[in-house]
Amino acid sequence: MKRKRSEKLWKRALRVFPGGVNSPVRAFKSVGGDPVFINRGKGTHIVDADGNKYLDFLSSWGPLILGHAPRKVVKATRRAALKGSTFGAVTEAEVKLGEFITESLPFVEKVRFVSSGTEAVMTALRLARGITQRPMVIKFEGCYHGHNDALLARAGSGLLTLSGNIAESSSPGVPDDIVRNTLVLPLDDSAALDAAIKNFGKQIACAIIEPLPANAGLLPQRKAYIEYLVTLCRSHNILVIFDEVISGFRLGFGGYTGREQIFPDIITYGKIIGGGLPVGAIAGSQKVMDHLAPQGPVYQAGTLSGNPLAMTAGLAALEQLAGRRGATYRYLESLGVQLETAFQNGISPLFAGRDWQIRLVRDASLFWLSFHNAGETAPVRQVTQIVPFAATIYARIFHAMLDRGFYLAPSAYEVGFLNAAMKPRHIEAFVAALKKVIAELP
Ligand code: PLP
Repeated sequence: MKRKRSEKLWKRALRVFPGGVNSPVRAFKSVGGDPVFINRGKGTHIVDADGNKYLDFLSSWGPLILGHAPRKVVKATRRAALKGSTFGAVTEAEVKLGEFITESLPFVEKVRFVSSGTEAVMTALRLARGITQRPMVIKFEGCYHGHNDALLARAGSGLLTLSGNIAESSSPGVPDDIVRNTLVLPLDDSAALDAAIKNFGKQIACAIIEPLPANAGLLPQRKAYIEYLVTLCRSHNILVIFDEVISGFRLGFGGYTGREQIFPDIITYGKIIGGGLPVGAIAGSQKVMDHLAPQGPVYQAGTLSGNPLAMTAGLAALEQLAGRRGATYRYLESLGVQLETAFQNGISPLFAGRDWQIRLVRDASLFWLSFHNAGETAPVRQVTQIVPFAATIYARIFHAMLDRGFYLAPSAYEVGFLNAAMKPRHIEAFVAALKKVIAELP
């Protein structure tokens, strides 16, 4: 594949952006090589600056559950753009999306729109701290919640584990003082949760979790564990935030919350909710949400919050997803099952006799190539269970797939996304290519 234009653009990008990008993972750091510049997308495919076509499993990291440039979303957004892009005043578009969400999701009484998932999480933390008048937050190792200072934190050094694991900053620019109020706990570990709450309970405002962690591979949690987290927190007046920026409107219209019927106090949304434009949201009961300004004292604002273009795109996408009694989700599930079956039949046998293997982890339209030592069968629920050799082998797979016209996430620790524009033949082609690539690995 020729990528001359991409190469030229990359040189220009390196001159004007730190590391050449506006979001780090786009730089292909963890798989090596130079990134491919994308020029356009339609349905299942993206086309790069040199005209090479790729079947896209990245979906812009999740928003594009309907595929690229879905007709109805484009049409509605174009119409909205012609009316003016932003007013800094209230508009009907935001009311429509707000009503659609609160009428469709019984567990959401009020919502506040912002412009990104990061912003949604930042506001959710402030809201929880404002309501409880407590400073500390619990986060879980492997869950990503955007680039909020308080959550750019990793577990503190070993000794602190016993006292609940006060965090250390995981990025220069985030002083340890800021993450002093963050407790980082392992996923799937009720005892760690017990200890943290025993030691710090009265100081903890909230626990934030991706109920289906999808930012360090896909780490499905036991439902009983998530239920335990919610029940335990509730009994200590600690608010629970489900970060559904990825899982919201993806695992089903109601996301994890709706599917599992486990109800947190606050939910954060992003990605799909904006139909491909920048939107995030904080959602919850009226009682909780009314603490936000100007109804309540917890401050939040945004020049482009509730932007009419983004609201219109979001509404067009969500209406399509909610339509035909959830047929889109049933269709996506059928693609997921097809992928799983084809993987088991066509790819799993390739690992016979090797000392490592790849398993496919899937939930709805999310999937992850999970690396293991031979013979390991236990589900991976914690980051520390991910084997270190995953990154090296994945990098080879990534590039070989890219050269065959399949665009996967440029990191072994990121998930793949199926979208509703895909047809069974796309899944077949993907598995056939992956089979060849894996068979050719040394
Ligand atoms: N929360 C989760 C679960 C995410 O996956 C992400 C981004 O990937 C965010 C929050 C941050 O969202 P954004 O990138 O829109 O700021």
